[in-house]
Amino acid sequence: MKKLLLIVGVSILTLSACSEDSNQNKQELKEKQSSSHETTKQKKQSPQSKQIHEVKKKNGITYIDGHVFVNKKVDLPSDYAPGENRIARNHLNKLIEDARKENLDLVFRSGYRSYSDQEQLYKDYVARDGEAAANQYSAKPGQSEHQTGLTFDVGSDSATDDFRTSFGKTDEGKWIKAHAHEYGFIVRYPEGKEKITGYQYEPWHLRYVGKDLANKIYKENTTLEEYFDYGK
Ligand SMILES: [Zn+2]
Repeated sequence: MKKLLLIVGVSILTLSACSEDSNQNKQELKEKQSSSHETTKQKKQSPQSKQIHEVKKKNGITYIDGHVFVNKKVDLPSDYAPGENRIARNHLNKLIEDARKENLDLVFRSGYRSYSDQEQLYKDYVARDGEAAANQYSAKPGQSEHQTGLTFDVGSDSATDDFRTSFGKTDEGKWIKAHAHEYGFIVRYPEGKEKITGYQYEPWHLRYVGKDLANKIYKENTTLEEYFDYGK
């Protein structure tokens, strides 16, 4: 499949001088229209969805169809600090509330992490397990989805399977797999897609993409990398 059908604009990747956004809760999934920055736009067609996707870079952040994209090949800048996305968190709260109504023991475990939080975490993991092992389960600073404010880890009060692949086999893990998309979330690192996402199966790690995209990703049993045909 041919890529890069159209390139519009000029690529300028800079570490912007923008400081931390104090208005973090007002962050929208789609970036704001007003722009004094030069951007890169590419239109490309993904083989799975047979749709044209717009890749846009702004202030060092990659957006595809308006969704912030980050993985081990596509970094976020160190000064990108949007804070927790309120819309995403509200949907997570509703998801947890509904799961608990069904007597499931589902709890929030972690959410937004700044670049420097991730830097410290990664250093600790490398010190504990070595770099190769740490890279299997931890993102390097600038490569964590938690930096987007759109990503949450869930677990259980019992915590026996928290942050383990076995969480996927618990009632809570199964419920997440079946219902997360109804709240606009995807299991970002699914089982069997390790080579594509670069991460082990993480049944607890949820990325908010909105109901539209979450439904498509769920139905196609795919990943952001495959759906957008980007960053594989
Ligand atoms: Zn996570």
